[in-house]
Amino acid sequence: MATERLVVVGGDAAGMSAASQAKRRNPGLDIIVFERGSHTSYSA
Ligand SMILES: Cc1cc2nc3c(=O)[nH]c(=O)nc-3n(C[C@H](O)[C@H](O)[C@H](O)COP(=O)(O)OP(=O)(O)OC[C@H]3O[C@@H](n4cnc5c(N)ncnc54)[C@H](O)[C@@H]3O)c2cc1C
Repeated sequence: MATERLVVVGGDAAGMSAASQAKRRNPGLDIIVFERGSHTSYSA
């Protein structure tokens, strides 16, 4: 079976919150976040 994958564009507050929430709800989910800058939000 193919692994489910979530792609998030933007790694600041909203993007990393969405990625974290998705991982909590589905730990097997493969998540990739694209961030054009050199830093991401790390609190989430
Ligand atoms: C002047 C100002 C002052 C503020 N001060 C505060 C404060 O003191 N405290 C506070 O809590 N909040 C503050 N905020 C609010 C806070 O900045 C925003 O609520 C928060 O950053 C929103 O996060 P976001 O993830 O929705 O959007 P953004 O922070 O805009 O994040 C979007 C991300 O997506 C990336 N991105 C965009 N397009 C692409 C692309 N095509 N490919 C890859 N990456 C991409 C960007 O590089 C960016 O990192 C302030 C806002 C402003 C405008």
